[in-house]
Amino acid sequence: MVKIQENIILAPMTSWLVGGPAEFFCLPEKVEEIQEAQSWAQIKGLPVQVLGGGTNVLISDQGIRGLTICLKNFSGLKAQETHERLTIEALSGTSKSELLKTFLKYKLGPALFLAGIPGDIGGGVAMNAGVGEMITPREFVEITDWIDVLRPNGEIVRLQKDQLKWDYRHCSGWQPGIILKVGLSYPLNPDPTILDQVKQANKIRLSKQPLDMPSCGSVFVNPPAETGYKAAQLIDSSGLKGFTIGRAQVSMKHANFIVNTGGATAKQIWQVITHVQQVVLEKTGVQLKTEVLRLGEWK
Ligand SMILES: Cc1cc2nc3c(=O)[nH]c(=O)nc-3n(C[C@H](O)[C@H](O)[C@H](O)COP(=O)(O)OP(=O)(O)OC[C@H]3O[C@@H](n4cnc5c(N)ncnc54)[C@H](O)[C@@H]3O)c2cc1C
Repeated sequence: MVKIQENIILAPMTSWLVGGPAEFFCLPEKVEEIQEAQSWAQIKGLPVQVLGGGTNVLISDQGIRGLTICLKNFSGLKAQETHERLTIEALSGTSKSELLKTFLKYKLGPALFLAGIPGDIGGGVAMNAGVGEMITPREFVEITDWIDVLRPNGEIVRLQKDQLKWDYRHCSGWQPGIILKVGLSYPLNPDPTILDQVKQANKIRLSKQPLDMPSCGSVFVNPPAETGYKAAQLIDSSGLKGFTIGRAQVSMKHANFIVNTGGATAKQIWQVITHVQQVVLEKTGVQLKTEVLRLGEWK
């Protein structure tokens, strides 16, 4: 039986290190435990919230009502060479860094875009995570073949990539449910320079992003490419670098990052987000949309 705990503080499970308690919480390791947890919540009439690596969420200081299922212990992947492709089956809680290591072992291109994107594979699919650089591949849509989803009625369905709707930093068409497994593949065309490229990409990220401080990466999505705008430039040119409320600050290093300078609350981070949106709209006419997702009770 999966262990369900009560009143567990979620801040340490997020990259921003903020967020109140989960009313109920579990860390399943097997599919059966996730199914069990889901039906436990249903019997009690409680909502279910899934948490992957917690690197793209802002959890309310009031916490999350109902059952939070954290998938970080639900991990493992199998890779095999089939029909000139590397084929991978991964449990959704497997970290992207494990996936990166697998692609690196075979010297394959996806290692490059995965370098520096934290969190789990399930979260990578849900967000269609990727990078802005014009490299191939650059997003999860390009390496994902199928996903297995646990429906609220306990059924597990396999959805092929083309049954899903893939957008910029969002994937839909699989809800409601919990992504359990992800099938990925890529042509076996080794690139002997890939490790050097990954090291170089990591160096650039380290020089441009405040990776030494708790954050959620880019807070806002870039406006559509045809506008020519980048969120970071709009924030910077609106004079908002360094703007601070409490312990939440628009990073001095990268204007699209909001960092927790130590002990920030979710409320402070949200206040900074809304202030940035308001000022950028006033000064540039552009309405910034958040990439980060708010979870929990926000009234
Ligand atoms: C320093 C830093 C740099 C970053 N750089 C990038 C970047 O370059 N590109 C980029 O795209 N992102 C970036 N991010 C954001 C983030 O890492 C990605 O969006 C990542 O894919 C989120 O994965 P996660 O496992 O942490 O998801 P979480 O934050 O845990 O969850 C995100 C959403 O997905 C849902 N979810 C997660 N797993 C499942 C599942 N198995 N089933 C159903 N729903 C699920 C959650 O409920 C939530 O709604 C960065 C973050 C940080 C902290």
